[in-house]
Amino acid sequence: FCGACVSVCPTGALADKSSKWDGKPDGMEVSTCPFCSIGCQIELHHKDGKLSKVYPSHDAEINDGQLCVRGRFSMPEATHHHERAKKPMLKRGKYFREVTWSEAQEEVAGKLKGLKPEEFLMLVSGDLTNESLFSAQKFVRSCLSGNSIDSTARLALPGGLGLWTKLFSLPISIKGIAESDAIIAVGLDSRFYFSVVGVQIRRALKHGAKLLTIDARDSNLGRYTDHRLQPMPGQEGILLNAVAGCLSGKKTHLKTIAKHGGMDEDAAKKAIDRINAGANLSVIIGPTVFEYSDTVELLDAIFALAKRKNTNFMPLYHGSNVRGAVELGAFGELLPGGVPSKGPGISLADLMTGKKRPKVLYLVGQAPFLERPDCEYLISQDIYYPPFPIDAFLPAASFAEAGGSLTNIEGRVQELVKIETPPEGAVTGYVRPDWQIFSDLSKKLDCGALGYRNAGDILKEIHEAVPGFPAKPDREPRRLKAESKLTVEKRNDPPAGKGEFLLIVEPAGFQHRGTDLSSVVEGLGELALEQGVRLNPDDLAQLGVEPGGRITITVDGVEVTASTKADGDCPAKVIYCSRPSNFGGLKECKNLEPLYHLKSNPIHVDVKVT
Ligand code: SF4
Repeated sequence: FCGACVSVCPTGALADKSSKWDGKPDGMEVSTCPFCSIGCQIELHHKDGKLSKVYPSHDAEINDGQLCVRGRFSMPEATHHHERAKKPMLKRGKYFREVTWSEAQEEVAGKLKGLKPEEFLMLVSGDLTNESLFSAQKFVRSCLSGNSIDSTARLALPGGLGLWTKLFSLPISIKGIAESDAIIAVGLDSRFYFSVVGVQIRRALKHGAKLLTIDARDSNLGRYTDHRLQPMPGQEGILLNAVAGCLSGKKTHLKTIAKHGGMDEDAAKKAIDRINAGANLSVIIGPTVFEYSDTVELLDAIFALAKRKNTNFMPLYHGSNVRGAVELGAFGELLPGGVPSKGPGISLADLMTGKKRPKVLYLVGQAPFLERPDCEYLISQDIYYPPFPIDAFLPAASFAEAGGSLTNIEGRVQELVKIETPPEGAVTGYVRPDWQIFSDLSKKLDCGALGYRNAGDILKEIHEAVPGFPAKPDREPRRLKAESKLTVEKRNDPPAGKGEFLLIVEPAGFQHRGTDLSSVVEGLGELALEQGVRLNPDDLAQLGVEPGGRITITVDGVEVTASTKADGDCPAKVIYCSRPSNFGGLKECKNLEPLYHLKSNPIHVDVKVT
C-alpha cells in the first residue's frame, strides 16, 4: 500500500489518518522527501503553521506523482510525535534536567575547549542537510582542530568512500530507468525500499523493455522479470561481471553464467541477446549488494558496462544525504571537495573496536549503539533522545523546522523547505537547526570560523569550497570526477566459517537521523525490522522448528539465540539477519547485536534448535 489511492480520491472518502481532522490546508510548498537518497519531490500541505499532510509532486524528473509509504505517511507523525525531544538538557547529579540554551552551550563548550584530536569524536548523520554537514566538519576542523569527525553514512557505503566516489562519477538518472529498453537489476526488492525505482522499472517494462534480474532471493521484480539469474549470496558480482563480458562479445562467460546463475547456456545466450538489443541500458544495484558481494567483480562489471554507450546506473544506498556527506567531507580522511586528509583523530571504527576511547563523544543525529559507548562525556544533538544515558542533549530542528538542502543520488542539490517556525517557549520547545547549534557553540569557543546568519550563507561557502557544487539549490544532476585519490577497498575472499548455513547480515530499517521511524510512526510499525532471522520454510521444517520458534546460531565463539520467520523468498541453507545503522527506538535488537560485528559477511554458521 503506497497511499496513491488516498492522493487521488475525488470524494475525500479516503484521508490520511494522522491529519483527518485538520480540515482544508492554508497553503502548500513543494519540498524534498528527507527519508532516502532518491529525493522525491513532495507537496507539503500546512495548516496554522503546522505540517498537515504530504502528497507527491508531479515532478517528471524523479517521482512523477508517486511516493513510497514512508515518504507519503511518516512526516507529520515523525516531527509532531509526543516523544520529540525539544529542550536542552544536562545531567545534574543523578538527574537529567531541563536547562537554558545558554547553560547547555556553556557546559558543552567548556567540555570541548582544549581537547586534543585524540580525545574527541563527532559522529554526524548522513541525514543532515548539506549546510549542517559542512558546518559540522568546519566546526571540528577549525574550532577544535584535528580530523575527529566521522559518520555512520560510512556503513551505508560498503567498499569505502573511494569506491563510492567512483560510483558517483557514473551517469545516474532515476527517470532514465523508465526510458530504458533493457534493465539489469541486481539484488533489488522494491517492496521494502526504493519503491519509486520499482515504479520506474515497471514503466520501462510497459513500453517493452527487457529485464534481467540477478538475485539470490525471490523478489517482487521476480514477477516481472524476463530472465532470472539466482546465484548464492555473495556471487552477484561474479554474475554481473560475466553478463558484462558477454555483452561486450566474450561468449566464454556464458559458462560462468550457467555455473553460478542457475540458467543453462542456451537460455543465458537468449537473455544476453535480448539485453544487448536494447539501445538504452539501466544497471540497478540494490542497497545490500556491496555489503556482502565480491566488490572486485562488481566494480570490474560496472566499469566494463560504463564503456557501453547510453548506460545508466543506479547504485542504491540507505540514508538521505550520504552523497552530501561524501562531497562535503564529513569523514576524518576526507575534506570537502573529495580532498584526502591525514590529520590526527578518532574514527567510528576506532570507537566500535575499542581501539581508541574519546574523552568527549558528540553524536549529531546518531545513535549507532544500543548501550552508552565508552567515553567520559556524551553529547547528543538530535530530534529524539538516544536509547542510552547521555550527559547533554541539544534539541535539533526537524526537517520541517530547519530548511536547507539535500543532495540526492543523482547529485541534485534539492531544497528542503522550512514549513514550521515555532516560537521558542516551554510548550513549543527550543529546537534549532544543527548548523546554528554549531555556529553558537563556535562563538562560545571564541572561534570566528562559523559566523553564519542563515543556511543560504553556508551554501554560498560550500560553492566556493567544493568544485561544481551550486551556490543555491539546483536540481541539475551532477557527476563527480572519477580520479579520486581515495583507496577502493576490494574484497573477494570466500565466506569465512565452516558451518552448514550461510549467514547474511544486511543493512535495513527506516532510520531517520538516530531513530528508526517505525518506533514513532504508527503505521510503519507494521513494516518494522524483525527481531529475529529469516530462513526458508523447508530449512525450518528440516530443523524441526515451527515458524516463530527459536534457533541458536554459533560462529567464531559467538552464540546468538534468535526467533525465526519462515520466508519462502530465502534460498535454501541461507539465514538473513537485518542490521539497523542506528538504534533509536530499537532496544529489542540487543540479542542480535553480536551478529552485526562478525569478521566476515557472508559467513558460514552452525545452527541448532533451542
Ligand atoms: S522513495 Fe525515498 S525519497 Fe521517495 S518517498 Fe520514499 S523515502 Fe521518500
